[in-house]
Amino acid sequence: MNNDEFRQWSRRAADWGADYRNSLRERPVRPLVDPGDIFKSVETSPPETAEPMDEIFADFEQKILPGMTHWQHPRFFAYFPANAAPVSVVAEYLVSAMAAQCMLWQTSPAATELETRVVDWMRQALGLPEGFSGVMQDSASSATLAAMLTMRERALDWRGNEKGLQGQPTLRVYSSDQVHTSIDRAIWVSGIGEDNLVRIPVAGRFRAMDVAALDTAIVADREAGMLPAGIIACVGGTSTGGTDDVAGVAAVAKRHGLYLHVDAAWAGSAMICPEFRHFWTGAEQADSIVFNPHKWLGAQFDCSVQFIRQPEDLVRTLAIKPEFLKTHGRDGIINYSEWSVPLGRRFRALKLWFLLRAHGLENLRTMIRNHVAWSEGFAARLARESDFELVTEPMLSLFSFRHLAAAGIDSDEHNLRLVNAINDDGRIYLTQTRVNGQVAIRFQVGQFETTAADIDTAFEVVTEIARKLT
Ligand SMILES: *Cc1c(COP(=O)(O)O)cnc(C)c1O
Repeated sequence: MNNDEFRQWSRRAADWGADYRNSLRERPVRPLVDPGDIFKSVETSPPETAEPMDEIFADFEQKILPGMTHWQHPRFFAYFPANAAPVSVVAEYLVSAMAAQCMLWQTSPAATELETRVVDWMRQALGLPEGFSGVMQDSASSATLAAMLTMRERALDWRGNEKGLQGQPTLRVYSSDQVHTSIDRAIWVSGIGEDNLVRIPVAGRFRAMDVAALDTAIVADREAGMLPAGIIACVGGTSTGGTDDVAGVAAVAKRHGLYLHVDAAWAGSAMICPEFRHFWTGAEQADSIVFNPHKWLGAQFDCSVQFIRQPEDLVRTLAIKPEFLKTHGRDGIINYSEWSVPLGRRFRALKLWFLLRAHGLENLRTMIRNHVAWSEGFAARLARESDFELVTEPMLSLFSFRHLAAAGIDSDEHNLRLVNAINDDGRIYLTQTRVNGQVAIRFQVGQFETTAADIDTAFEVVTEIARKLT
């Protein structure tokens, strides 16, 4: 493809993108395909000779598009949102066109310096105090891994990377049982091991870990000769929004000298609204906090911000300096690859900069406030229907519910059938979870383009399909 064709096809792609966004409401949110359908439709071997772009593009539209789940659909109420505001997509076009590797300051000075600036904008927007630095990671999973490795190294007095974990005391990390699976992965990959993730039981409306039990567990582990390393607090858990008492947890962390990482991957975006900050009171005392602007806030994936109190600890854990990466004679500059596990890194700050400027915090706050209010309204409406029950109350814009099965019908089976029937219908998309072992249906409002009318449609779809099932 020469640059004239590049221009022509880029325009075509831009037109396609706008038409696609316009057409979302007419599409089923989740495609009606069977496993293997798309795989079978693609040639079994790679082409030996070049093919015309027209054909490639036509195949994209005919074979690929019908198999896509539409994450930007205004009636996507499943999982958590992965919003990509159009302005962040525009920034990504530019980033793709430049295709810079932003691992060192000198491999992309502007990317590095904009990252420092925009991460600090986010710190201010979320109401965090000065004194936090930060970095943009690809995902919350990577940020949590980086935090886990840092707490491991700090606890081992920086010997783990060199010596390995053999012969070291048994490391222990503490969290509630509501945390995301990325915490499990981090504990596997860091070599600490799942058996050493101590899951503290939760209680109360927000399923917060029992802070007294946390303290007791740490004391008991110390007495048993083990080495407590850190605590992972959760604000807005994936299943039902489980949220710890971060201030209580931070006090325990401080008392025992443990590293505290806060996972607010989804809920962190809501902290641009001062009235929601009570959900993470105490986060300002953490060593590390992660939140994903690529979820609710609208920065195209991938865009995860990790705030760090002491970057020296993170850099001491992760920096490698082979000769060819050294930037001679330039002290005081940041090489962000030393703050993360991968070496190569994309220019992620541009889309967040575009997004924050084009929307302004005021408009983003309005969006988030609407989502929370609509979710609360939906929950209240469902609670008034005698054949529905709320399983968990709204935490920000996430709640869960159940349809009451007819006598003699298993509730789990009935509600799984209901989720499947709703998703096959295509007008909305929901997912299920388990609360105390029993199936519940999750509902979260978070799409950039969602309107109050979409919530009314969701209510009609849920009640209509549930009543047809019984
Ligand atoms: C989505 C989510 C994650 C994982 O985020 P990735 O960026 O996909 O790794 C972790 N924790 C919570 C609470 C989440 O909601």
